[in-house]
Amino acid sequence: MADAAVQPIAGPSKSNWLPAKSWQHFVAGGVGGMCGAIVTSPFDVVKTRLQSSLFREKHTTLSIAGNGTLTVPHRTGLLYNFVETGHILRDIYREESPRALFKGLGPTLVGVIPARSINFFAYGNGKHVIANKFNHGEENTWVHLTAAACAGVVTGTATNPIWVVKTRLQLEADGKHSSRSSLSPDSSTTARARIAKSTNSWDMIQKIMREEGVRGFYKGLSASYLGVTEGTIQWTLYERLKKLTANTEGKGGAMEWVGMIGSAGTAKCVASLITYPHEVIRTRLRQPLVDGKMKYTGLVQTLRLVIAEEGTKSLYGGLSAHLMRVIPNAAVMFFIYEAVLRWRFDWPSDAAANGSWTLSIILSVTLNLKVSCIVSNTSTMDSNTFFLNFHRLPDRSRSHQAEDLANYPHCSFDADGQELLIPHSLDVLDVLYCSSRTTVYSAVAVCYPDGHGTVNELVLKLTSEQKALVEAGNYDAHVALQGKVIPRLYGVLFGEREEGEDLGCLVLERFGSCLKQPFHELPSIDKAKILDKLAEAHHNGLHHLDFEEPNILVQDGEYRITDLGHVTVHEWTCGWSYKFADHIGEDEYRRPEQDGWGCEIIRREAAGIGFWNDYRIQLLPRFYVPKSDDLPSQEETNRMNTDIGIGVGTKYLREDRQDLAIRYYNHVKTLLQTGHSLEELVPLRSHIAYKIHVQWHAEKNLPFSTLLPWER
Ligand SMILES: [Zn+2]
Repeated sequence: MADAAVQPIAGPSKSNWLPAKSWQHFVAGGVGGMCGAIVTSPFDVVKTRLQSSLFREKHTTLSIAGNGTLTVPHRTGLLYNFVETGHILRDIYREESPRALFKGLGPTLVGVIPARSINFFAYGNGKHVIANKFNHGEENTWVHLTAAACAGVVTGTATNPIWVVKTRLQLEADGKHSSRSSLSPDSSTTARARIAKSTNSWDMIQKIMREEGVRGFYKGLSASYLGVTEGTIQWTLYERLKKLTANTEGKGGAMEWVGMIGSAGTAKCVASLITYPHEVIRTRLRQPLVDGKMKYTGLVQTLRLVIAEEGTKSLYGGLSAHLMRVIPNAAVMFFIYEAVLRWRFDWPSDAAANGSWTLSIILSVTLNLKVSCIVSNTSTMDSNTFFLNFHRLPDRSRSHQAEDLANYPHCSFDADGQELLIPHSLDVLDVLYCSSRTTVYSAVAVCYPDGHGTVNELVLKLTSEQKALVEAGNYDAHVALQGKVIPRLYGVLFGEREEGEDLGCLVLERFGSCLKQPFHELPSIDKAKILDKLAEAHHNGLHHLDFEEPNILVQDGEYRITDLGHVTVHEWTCGWSYKFADHIGEDEYRRPEQDGWGCEIIRREAAGIGFWNDYRIQLLPRFYVPKSDDLPSQEETNRMNTDIGIGVGTKYLREDRQDLAIRYYNHVKTLLQTGHSLEELVPLRSHIAYKIHVQWHAEKNLPFSTLLPWER
């Protein structure tokens, strides 16, 4: 390689390799790498989605600290992957936007472009140098092999620090958010992007430098050199296959390009199959210290440990998904590389102009490929700033969360990286609920000309960032219940208080309003609807720990359970099978045929809100007595409800009022049994109560006076 480094500086020689021209490989490689990454980006997005949805189904935990990989157990099978991937791509494109397929592209390009530029530069020039120096200017397999190996070593050494920083940032982000939420370690759509932001690359570089020194940046370098094997196989095989296809079809035709793309794909596939395990080992070696100790110290030690702990199979985990990404990537990358190389440039002799040339080539190539729209969109995609406009909020005496925001009443917020339902701006209209730590606002989405013209009503819940993340994680873990049992969650926003503290904001579907009546006053049919929602939540593993009236939303006789701040995982599979709606008005306290009810929690809640009112009867608020022949039915009791404890100057104890209530309703029952109709009695309620009071006071020798008219 010493020769390779010296040769270009020595100036033009008898070979056709000129210093200026060598940059073609650099530029072509960079552009090729970039295009490859753009094409592969949707597959990366799908990979993330697959992992998180898989997580939701299986409720397994992501074990990052344990083994250092970020891989969630994959469903194996190439066919399954293809079908699933196709569906997800289609859904993301239709339901979100084409842009959503290119999330996270920016950071990828930062790593990919330098790596590819260096690799193609080193290989493309290296093979000429080696051929000229050692093989009389002729290229053969041996020359390709040596050049590819040298290029691999150069690339590995130069780019290892970039990968170390990137891997650390990812590990840190995933490690952090796995500890955030009790229900959902992978609240993939809400937590990740935000937390990843909390440590930036520069902080990470300083941290590695401080804690581990320069050597920290070269962790896993030996494994990177192992990766040289893959690059070498790939390059050598590519050159070989390219020559074969070019020879059969003649130069320059369309078939040559097809052959080239096929060669690139095939070479990558073969090379991946042979060397895939090194990816696994490389990730392990870059893992940060666990409990202050390094678990994976060297190449051989790591290989042994992984095989011993997880079996040989783990070295090929996720291979099919990997191939689905790297093969199209390689095909596009080599195609672009070759295309750029064959582009007839008039290279300016002035080296200083190289920079602008590089840029103009990148632009013209991307324009020609009609991917320019995607590239330009990445900038708007990354600026996830939202605005909450509070200026229409009516004046309120009580202070609320938003008032602490740094730029209230026009607050900018960061979105968490996911596409929210509505772009850019929300108008906050009212305060629905307000406590010292949480405020719930109603808001509408500001309509945009390119929108559908509908006004979307939303609910914003402002609380601490930590709480917002936990609650969002709980919503995420129960996607299946969203819009049916619990409101839909559209996303999470993050703002800053004036004092610099963080504030989080859940953006939720607006659904009716909180239940104002106590449960026990609801008609049985409504109790049944609410309890059936509760059972549905249980079947989905959601155990709501605050099942109370303010957390029940009602809209047109439909119900939702809200506030997932205080929930837990249902400890066992819920065995509740009784459908409340099918048992309205049943008069017997009937147990299902099976042993028990299947879930004691639901049984208790149902009894608590008085769904089965057949074995007891409510005479006063919070006063129930066993049903008997001496008392009217609950329906009749409700109709005959009147004031009890009407004596002026008498202090009635709780027991006194209960005694009076029993006497009153006993008398009502007697009247009903002696031929009086309920319709007759309802207007006489106060009068009957009056007579009962007079009798009671006489028995107790207590004076009685009342404001009711009958006394006079
Ligand atoms: Zn249950």
